[in-house]
Amino acid sequence: MKVAVFSTQPYDQASLDKSNQNFNHEVVYHETALGEKTASLASGFPVICVFVNDQLNENVIRTIAANGTRLIALRCAGFNNVDLKAAAAAGITVCRVPAYSPNAVAEYTLGLVISLQRKIHKAWLRVREDNFSLNGLVGNDLYGRTIGVVGTGNIGALVARSFQAGLGCEVIAHDVVENPDLVSIGVKYVSKDELLRRADVVCLHCPLLPDTQHLINADSLKTTKPGVVIVNSGRGSLVDSAALLDGLESGHVGGAALDVYEKEKPLFFRDLSEKIVRDHTFQRLITLPNVIVTGHQAFLSREALNSIADTTLTNIAQFEKNDGHVEKSNIVTAS
Ligand code: NAD
Repeated sequence: MKVAVFSTQPYDQASLDKSNQNFNHEVVYHETALGEKTASLASGFPVICVFVNDQLNENVIRTIAANGTRLIALRCAGFNNVDLKAAAAAGITVCRVPAYSPNAVAEYTLGLVISLQRKIHKAWLRVREDNFSLNGLVGNDLYGRTIGVVGTGNIGALVARSFQAGLGCEVIAHDVVENPDLVSIGVKYVSKDELLRRADVVCLHCPLLPDTQHLINADSLKTTKPGVVIVNSGRGSLVDSAALLDGLESGHVGGAALDVYEKEKPLFFRDLSEKIVRDHTFQRLITLPNVIVTGHQAFLSREALNSIADTTLTNIAQFEKNDGHVEKSNIVTAS
């Protein structure tokens, strides 16, 4: 198949090229993201391969459909950036990689929480300057703390299990469906309100949907425990960043670990070190001592990249071989 890949980073190309030795798709790589201004680059490609910050709104979908695209192959799990109704109306199939390495994201999330709680990010900076003072580095044990996990799918279940069975925390969870394996190890499902009221650490692992957008906002933060830690490795818009910043500045929120940010699109996946970043909320957040921000990196393990490449190219091969049919569990449709 002729495939146009958007938002290509060197590590994407390396893993896709390696996997493509087994498929021989005709792949063209674009560094640029897909959006209204770049949609013409998809012209003549029956398949486009996109990532988290490519924008596939109704206009883009109409343009690519008119230019011959029949399959949108997401090389990620989330699909909030695709107008699925517009894709269905245009006769375009949308597929994704539902579970490339949930371990990659879960392990990274644990790393963020432990770093923040034990101030490892601050200690690392001090030691680089030969400052071995421990003053100001007193942390908190996680053992015995209450961890609230919102969304216990592939990633959230691993996070919940690690905190509950590995670190001796009390895990409370909220999801629209309960995972019996988690219940059997002692995880308790509670309402979202109860979770926010009781958790010392809130970890967000649900998809970004209309009803989860700004799940953490000024009102919901008011109901949280003083000192609560907010952890987001899901999608940026699960958190109202301005409200989170207010909560941190007032001292009510004790810390935040963010691998995603609601206005990350013009920032992440590029080197802006010589530029002026004009997003004041973001700039303020990254200066706070009790905040760790990383640039949507939780997925980035070698195992995950290989798995993403293999599943994406398999989806495309199935689409070609089976006259437009892809493994059902990898298809995304409007609900
Ligand atoms: P998943 O589909 O396996 O699990 C999502 C869970 O959220 C499901 O159990 C679902 O029932 C639940 N859910 C749906 N609506 C909910 C609601 N309103 N309230 C509470 N729970 C709800 O997905 P996953 O593979 O575990 O990934 C979770 C999210 O993590 C993805 O949607 C994606 O946005 C994000 N993600 C981020 C990275 C990263 O690099 N930071 C990488 C992969 C995935």
